[in-house]
Amino acid sequence: MVRYILGIFLAASVLVACSTNPITGRSQLSLVPESELQSMANQQYRQFLTESKVVSPSGDRDAEMVRRVGNRIATAVTNFYKQQGLASKLEGYKWEFNLIRDPAANAWAMPGGKVAIYTGLLPITRNEAALANVMGHEIAHALFQHGNERMSQGLAAQGLGTGLAVALANKPAATQNIFNQAFGVGTTVGVLLPFGRKQELESDRYGMIFAAMAGYNPREAIALWERMEAASNGNKPPEFLSTHPSEGRRKAQLEKYLPEALKYYKPGK
Ligand SMILES: [Zn+2]
Repeated sequence: MVRYILGIFLAASVLVACSTNPITGRSQLSLVPESELQSMANQQYRQFLTESKVVSPSGDRDAEMVRRVGNRIATAVTNFYKQQGLASKLEGYKWEFNLIRDPAANAWAMPGGKVAIYTGLLPITRNEAALANVMGHEIAHALFQHGNERMSQGLAAQGLGTGLAVALANKPAATQNIFNQAFGVGTTVGVLLPFGRKQELESDRYGMIFAAMAGYNPREAIALWERMEAASNGNKPPEFLSTHPSEGRRKAQLEKYLPEALKYYKPGK
């Protein structure tokens, strides 16, 4: 009897712990309530902004562009989700797009839609459409809750698979530590650890689609990755290059995704 009940309990836990993303169709480990994670991320993002050189979009063309491109893609994605009857999946998202004065060629997104683009990236993106493809990639990470998945894997690995609320109550220091590791908080604030290969490819694919939906040419993604690879030679690679096996294979992947993204692309929108 005990075993039977335990079996039901375990089955229920697994059901609760995994969620299938309605866009990608992929089942993801999800031990942390997204609302909880978004509130932790918001707190960390605020702290990051006060400790960083944020470029004001009023009076700076680049910062204005970052905000404009981000908002255009967020609007396109929101409309797409509404059309699919998935508006509720965007609950709690409050998109923010800030340009940070920092020579690193970096960009990242935290849960709930908190995005940072570093000025060091702009000489490599060169044009607005290429920037849109990077931002589409980062928006996809936030949208598909890759941060939640990574943190859930961290919790599970440390035997804290009961969920964040319980973990917080029992081992607050350990839970905060896992969040910090998952989001690069601490000595390297804002330097996110690489996502897994599946997550990166997902973000590449949908990043191009989301950019295209907002009226940006997804072809720019391919030229951009060539420039990124050249620019990162010998340096620490940025988030979106860090987990890919080789430039050649990634370029082939992007080329494979291009026809699908082009279906959504209406130039001059
Ligand atoms: Zn990425």
